[in-house]
Amino acid sequence: MRPLGGSGGNHVESSAEIEVRVDPLTGHRCRINQSRDQRPKQPLAVGTVKGGAPCPFCPENLERSTPEFRPGIFAEKRIRYGGAVLFPNLFPLSEMHAVCVFTPVHKVNLDEFTAKEIYDGIKCCIEFISRCRTLGVINHLIGWNHLSQAGASMLHPHFQVIASRDSFSSILKLVELSRSYHASTKSSYWEVLVREERGSPRMIGTTGGFNWLAPWSPMGSYEVMGVCSSPKSSITELGDAEVMALAEGILKVINGYWAVGASSLNMAIFSSACEGEYFRVHARLMARPTELISDRAFLELYGNEVGISVPPERYAGWIREKF
Ligand SMILES: [Zn+2]
Repeated sequence: MRPLGGSGGNHVESSAEIEVRVDPLTGHRCRINQSRDQRPKQPLAVGTVKGGAPCPFCPENLERSTPEFRPGIFAEKRIRYGGAVLFPNLFPLSEMHAVCVFTPVHKVNLDEFTAKEIYDGIKCCIEFISRCRTLGVINHLIGWNHLSQAGASMLHPHFQVIASRDSFSSILKLVELSRSYHASTKSSYWEVLVREERGSPRMIGTTGGFNWLAPWSPMGSYEVMGVCSSPKSSITELGDAEVMALAEGILKVINGYWAVGASSLNMAIFSSACEGEYFRVHARLMARPTELISDRAFLELYGNEVGISVPPERYAGWIREKF
């Protein structure tokens, strides 16, 4: 698609190529204009306030500064696994909403994490999800907002996990579309996706039981998805080696982000409460702005589409260097 045109700053005729891509499963539409990186940006004269109050998630403050589960819900006040500790969110968005501080170390640079830290965090979240399930709260979503540009209010690295009796709309839609794809083709969409993308410029690599690729129609900048190789729909079905494969993949992707200058990210792990071989556990990560300017504007918020500047075939190559 070519725009009707316009003139640049010096009234010179300008044009840009816009590619519109549609996700083959969800119909999600992404618009790619590679020239958008060159947009001039007016800096805001706002300084970021650093320091001040001590971090409540650092080990010396955590016990005192974070909430505990009410007696009778779980055996412990907080759930721990390795170096990770999970406790209720003070400002929940669901009946069961937890924060998982997955490393005792207060750090923000994406090249400083380890697979073990991410593994401990995911294992801790899985433990919480399993316990919520015994209470009849079966739906769940694990997420990571890293830095304020990604919606985090606390800098200390932490995952969030939401469990709910109601299903999450995105997972409900993915499960239904996967089920109907399976019903009409007798094959798993996720298996076909990985098989057909293997060898494509969007394929990034594998870590044990997870395949990492840039989606055809990304939902955000530098978006990468990691799809489980085996027919497991819920994260609670993953063995320890598969959780480590997931953690190693996430680590490689965020190291790739850091290498290309991205410091902020969102991640979600899509996991279905209802086991079905048509669905696969998968993670999606996207980079968020490094500056104050938002990447979520009217097209994303009201147009239900996203605009990005770097096509998946290009950034997949950059992130592949970390695999
Ligand atoms: Zn801290």
